[in-house]
Amino acid sequence: MRAILLNPGPVSLSDGVRRAAVSEDLCHREEEFFDLQDDLVGGLVEVYALDAGAWTAVLLGGSGTTALEAMISSLAPRDARVLVLENGVYGERIARICTIHGIAHEARKHAWTDALDLDAVDDALAAGAFTHVAAVHHETTTGRLNPVADLARLCERHGARLLLDAVSSFGAEDIPFASPALDAIAATANKCLHGIPGLAFVLCRRSALAEAPPARTLYLHLPLWAEHQARRSTPFTPPVNAGLALRQALVELRAQGGWSARRARYHRLASAVRRTLEAEGVEPFLPPEASSCVLRSYRLPAGKSYDAVHDALKQRGFVIYAGQGGLAQEMFRISTMGEITDYDLGVLEGALRDVFADTVRAQAS
Ligand SMILES: *Cc1c(COP(=O)(O)O)cnc(C)c1O
Repeated sequence: MRAILLNPGPVSLSDGVRRAAVSEDLCHREEEFFDLQDDLVGGLVEVYALDAGAWTAVLLGGSGTTALEAMISSLAPRDARVLVLENGVYGERIARICTIHGIAHEARKHAWTDALDLDAVDDALAAGAFTHVAAVHHETTTGRLNPVADLARLCERHGARLLLDAVSSFGAEDIPFASPALDAIAATANKCLHGIPGLAFVLCRRSALAEAPPARTLYLHLPLWAEHQARRSTPFTPPVNAGLALRQALVELRAQGGWSARRARYHRLASAVRRTLEAEGVEPFLPPEASSCVLRSYRLPAGKSYDAVHDALKQRGFVIYAGQGGLAQEMFRISTMGEITDYDLGVLEGALRDVFADTVRAQAS
């Protein structure tokens, strides 16, 4: 049975993307592959209409974490002092990456349920001589959209560079590329871009790449990949099939009106799911205005285990996602990324009503 994926990547594919993934056998040392690579770099820079003279996309094989680790380990200079903002699993991951690579940093820990405290960030930047701020745009742990435009302004004011995890927002949320403080974002093919897993990328300012410190790792060093890309080469075996799929996914994104049309579409889907669940007595974990368009988290109603909800929805053709860490018993997550049609949405709403029908009755009695 075909299941529709409501987890935050990998996503349900369009038929076009699925076919593209297996459309050709390509050797990565042949002209055809380098044409593909050039198309991908150009296509990724175009998603937010960036100036290709100032920005480039560096592609590499791996999941979103590969891009994140490559961005931090490649772009933080030897004398960096990074302020890491944490309000979920992915912010904590950035701090771990800094620790592993011996990059001096200070983590600003927030509760997973809390918004970033920008006043505290302002004070920290004023006092702390930080060279960089690293943060998560869409914290997929809870579905919170962090205020990265405000953060970019704070960085500008204090002369800090900004590095963003945009893994679950690139292609569907607004990213402050116009801010001169933003040096790079890390992202992946298989979330809001609707490609398949295996290909990750860092969109970075060419100036930041040019100033990158000597390599801390062999595989994750962005200047190595960028330099090969620029001369139609590749240092290692790239995820060719994920590249073929992403090229098609970028064509489809453009045809559908680009990232802002995708954001509007995601908003419509996420709002419809929220209304349906609220009508069944299931409360969202965060208010809609704090949430991304990509993923929403919900409180498990009393008497319902995650496993029971998950299994009942899977039987009806939908794969949802558990809460992470301490939130695993409290909440579940529904992402509406990927190829989800209006018909699918209707079936999903029916399935949610079915599965949560007794919630309202239980609360009313
Ligand atoms: C998915 C995701 C990642 C990367 O996870 P991988 O499992 O390595 O793909 C990183 N940050 C955020 C915010 C994510 O949603």
